[in-house]
Amino acid sequence: MATQPILEEIKEKIFEFVPRETDISSVEFEGAEVAIYARNPQILLEDDSILKNLARTIRKRIVVRSDPAVRLSEDETKKIIESILREEGVEITDISFDPTIGEVIIEADKPGAVIGKDASRLREIAAKTKWRPRVIRTPPIESKIVKSIRNILAMESKSRLDNLRRIGQRIHRPPIFIDGEVRITALGGYLEVGRTANLVQTGESTILVDAGVNVGATKANNALPRFDLPEFDIDSLDAVIVSHAHLDHSGFVPYLFKYGYDGPVYTTPPTRDLMIMLQLDYLDIAEKEGKLLPYSQSDIKEAILHTVTLNYGEVTDIAPDVRLTFYNAGHIIGSAIVHLHIGDGRFNVAFAHDFKYAKTRLLDRANTKYPRLETIIMESTYGNPKDVLPSRQESEMRLAKIVRETIEKGGKVLIPVLAVGRAQEIMVILESLMRHDKIPEVPIFTEGMISEATAITTAYPEFLSRSLRERIFHAGNNPFLAEFFHHVRSKEEREQIVNGEPSIIMATSGMLSGGPSVYYFYEMAEEEKNSIIFVSYQGKGTLGRKIVEGAREIPVQVEHEKTRALNIKMRVEQINGFTGHSDRRELIEFAKHLSPRPKKYIIVHGEQSKCQNLAVAIHRATKRETVAPPIGQTLLLD
Ligand SMILES: [Zn+2]
Repeated sequence: MATQPILEEIKEKIFEFVPRETDISSVEFEGAEVAIYARNPQILLEDDSILKNLARTIRKRIVVRSDPAVRLSEDETKKIIESILREEGVEITDISFDPTIGEVIIEADKPGAVIGKDASRLREIAAKTKWRPRVIRTPPIESKIVKSIRNILAMESKSRLDNLRRIGQRIHRPPIFIDGEVRITALGGYLEVGRTANLVQTGESTILVDAGVNVGATKANNALPRFDLPEFDIDSLDAVIVSHAHLDHSGFVPYLFKYGYDGPVYTTPPTRDLMIMLQLDYLDIAEKEGKLLPYSQSDIKEAILHTVTLNYGEVTDIAPDVRLTFYNAGHIIGSAIVHLHIGDGRFNVAFAHDFKYAKTRLLDRANTKYPRLETIIMESTYGNPKDVLPSRQESEMRLAKIVRETIEKGGKVLIPVLAVGRAQEIMVILESLMRHDKIPEVPIFTEGMISEATAITTAYPEFLSRSLRERIFHAGNNPFLAEFFHHVRSKEEREQIVNGEPSIIMATSGMLSGGPSVYYFYEMAEEEKNSIIFVSYQGKGTLGRKIVEGAREIPVQVEHEKTRALNIKMRVEQINGFTGHSDRRELIEFAKHLSPRPKKYIIVHGEQSKCQNLAVAIHRATKRETVAPPIGQTLLLD
């Protein structure tokens, strides 16, 4: 096989560095990592200088696993782990096993306590049981998605390992065209918003950065990226990278598996879970609307089994000549700026698709410092000179004022909101306003996808802003667990809420284009004392847009054929300051603060006039080459 020479070389080095008593039984590629299976793995675990030196020499990440023959039985292992942790007063939720790679998975509310100082407890467990311990967090709010992904990974461990080994062989193939030029082809999301997809081709490898769908497309040929272009060939694809979970960046991923893609999908852990949730919902809606299903649940499952998750800052080989690193994008939880280091550093390009260059309640602002950077691809959703948004503080004060006035009149507040991102941001703001007595304490209701997205968010506190992490880890004070929040489970509950005491209701969709927000709106609109607050962009043609633009009488269907006029008497407000995108000012500041300053700026992800307008402004601010190319164009990086 073509990869043997590299693995053989690595094996030679390993045998040179590792003491003979380690008794190595095999060495395998598992994705980008080199896995050493040994009969005495503790020798390597006790003295980590051996592994450090080895990793430096072979320039690969190494993982040490035990040979199956030396592992204790699962029952014995469980008993030993329980007794080690019981002695220290550490609580755990579950212990499960992955025999294919010899991992014992310990689930706990507080993973840090299980790990111990300098991973001392993990080393003790590994030494006594010969299983490699992996600690995962029990989400403080139960999440169906997190649970089912963990189940799938456990049940299909063998086929997942096969995938990783095949991916590893491909990553470590001997390169042939290492000095080729680097080209980026615009497959989607150029001079438009939606269906983002970029094809990166080096002489040696082919990588797809984002694979989105345009959910709001009116014509079928605008909905999907341009995979019909001759540059795209699914069989030559080495890797797919997903910047964040929104469907305009991730919705196409399962299609790729449907059409035969068999390689890795790289993303962060929260993005994996959130994109699966959104893809399943996308299928669900297509089915309810009687549309042709774009792909099936089994394509989504294939995507899960091929996904490799990476944390921010973790550098990974994804092809013989390409290294990938994710950096915080500040847009939604898990969102990343994608940095590619190509051909031993001759080209460094970053994709800043959706990003927020300002601190929000939930996230720190987007990263601007990179080891090297020659080209940046950046969004321009709010790229027009008019797109300067009110400050967060101003927006929060306005939100507080509207909520306070409504509740004091005995009314209820409806906030139509997107499930992922804005919903959690607004929850944290409302929680803080209530805690500081800026608004009266009333129940806050959420349901469906908002509750699920919130549960997923609580499973990954490491990805939240520094201040929120401090609160959760050190003060033990998680805003999402506040007693004001209530999860609505049934239709009867909805009726009680609309007929009940003053409250705040957060419901999808954000534009009243379907979902429970429409139900609440119909029930609440005709009462003067109630309020509706729009906190996100209202798309053309949506009910939300009509109301924001002043419509006060709209026809609604009461029974099958009858319609009646709904008189909107409730207070209607719109607050624009809570977006997860950078406004015009922040976009230009980001461009100026990039370090090192790139030679070339490619402006994407905005309506045509916004891309072009922002390109001119960034050229003025940075004195560098800026372009806003159309879909279908191929750019040569130099
Ligand atoms: Zn987005």
